[in-house]
Amino acid sequence: MSTIAVGSFIIECNHFGGELADLDTFRRYDYVTDDDVLKVNDGAVGGMLRTLEEAGHSAHPLLVASACPSSLVTDTAYDEIKSQMLDRLPSSVDGVLLALHGSSASQSIGDLEGDLIEAVRRQVGSAPIVGTLDLHAHVTQQMIDHCDALLAWETYPHRDAFTTGERGAATIVDILSGSLKPTMVSAKVPVLVSGILGHTEGEGPFADVMRAAKRIEQDDATVYSTSAFLVHPYLDAAEMGGGAVVITNDDESYAQKVAVDLATDYGNRRFDLEPELVTPEAAIAASRSLATGTIVLAETADCCGGGAAGDSVHGLRALLEYAPDASAYVPVVDPEAANVCHRADAGQTVTLSIGHRLDEKWGIPIETEAVVHELTDGRFTYSGGIWDGREAEMGPSALVEIGSTLVGISSHPTYEWAGEQLQHFYVDYRQVRFVVAKNPMNYRIAFPEALEAFVLDTAGPTPPTCRHLPYKHVERPYYPADEAQPVVRVYRKRRD
Ligand SMILES: [Zn+2]
Repeated sequence: MSTIAVGSFIIECNHFGGELADLDTFRRYDYVTDDDVLKVNDGAVGGMLRTLEEAGHSAHPLLVASACPSSLVTDTAYDEIKSQMLDRLPSSVDGVLLALHGSSASQSIGDLEGDLIEAVRRQVGSAPIVGTLDLHAHVTQQMIDHCDALLAWETYPHRDAFTTGERGAATIVDILSGSLKPTMVSAKVPVLVSGILGHTEGEGPFADVMRAAKRIEQDDATVYSTSAFLVHPYLDAAEMGGGAVVITNDDESYAQKVAVDLATDYGNRRFDLEPELVTPEAAIAASRSLATGTIVLAETADCCGGGAAGDSVHGLRALLEYAPDASAYVPVVDPEAANVCHRADAGQTVTLSIGHRLDEKWGIPIETEAVVHELTDGRFTYSGGIWDGREAEMGPSALVEIGSTLVGISSHPTYEWAGEQLQHFYVDYRQVRFVVAKNPMNYRIAFPEALEAFVLDTAGPTPPTCRHLPYKHVERPYYPADEAQPVVRVYRKRRD
């Protein structure tokens, strides 16, 4: 029986906007240590623990910290998480399992996963380290150098955190038994696209890449694992791109060949990954000729799940102006507006200045009167995804009505999965003509019966195209800013 240390640090960071993530941000989602880690039965850590137990190994708990995406992690929060993790890590463990995201950054460090993995490596010497990643990870040389194996989610929307944890644990079990001598190569192309066409279910450019990757993993006996990546494009770091990480059983040149083929295939599909955009006004105008039903306005530039503050009112403003009589629902994060509502009673009319309060650079607030319908504590439970079964906190929240539009006002950004925030306010999306979704992907889960969806071209830190993002560290050329054929970069483990 071996002893495997298990820990997790999951957050996706945004260099263009949103709010900083401090320790409270993590505590609102997931922050547990010691024996409480061993009670985790969902997400990647739940899967890791299950597989270790089944294989007869013992888990040594470190720390589990995860949070809704944000701007950067504060230096204080990262230092604390890192030292809490390392303080609990004995140098004598037989291996380490880390459930990570892969696209996080702090105020001072651009690659937190690379930093953390390297620190763990220094502490455990040559013991195997296996990490699981989000498929939006920015896989770096530092991660490759200090980790024995990296495996990513296979699904977007992300439904497979648990099974990815199981696969990660199975990998370390195979390494410890001697049946796997992992050789890992990453290959990627500078393609930076939003998540809108990155789904892995049904037809789609990334779905094809993922299926090809998984076919190789299943059918090719030399290949142990393939992971396909869309990078989170709202990080700003050198050498960002999408592609693949391939692990073979001790065959580096073959791992490289498979990784390069997958990254090349991904790069060749780049034109199919750029979405069509419309202005909110044009989307509303186009909706007039559509049948009865719910129309999704995807205001993905303000995606809390990509690190934005969720405080934009571009969609709301357009609805009030161009569809003043249509029923609609819009989510807005605005703690001050929520506070104004909470000082009133349900049924009262309040004067609100709402929107663009947390991250002011993307627009101006709407000054309006609103009728307060409901006041809540903002707590809800996720019904799937990365935080399946976990309670999340929107903070003091209110459902108000502005004209014919319902606005769900919350105090903290929360990740949108399957419409839990609407359900919290007892809003049925099928009863409104327009629903604003602030995500590029999960609206497919949240609003399965919607008639039509438009991707809005609005300002924010998670825009639907990365063509004009003011990157400082991303090198040119990159798609879609440049038309050049993308060049594949390869990352092998550097050896001393
Ligand atoms: Zn992701």
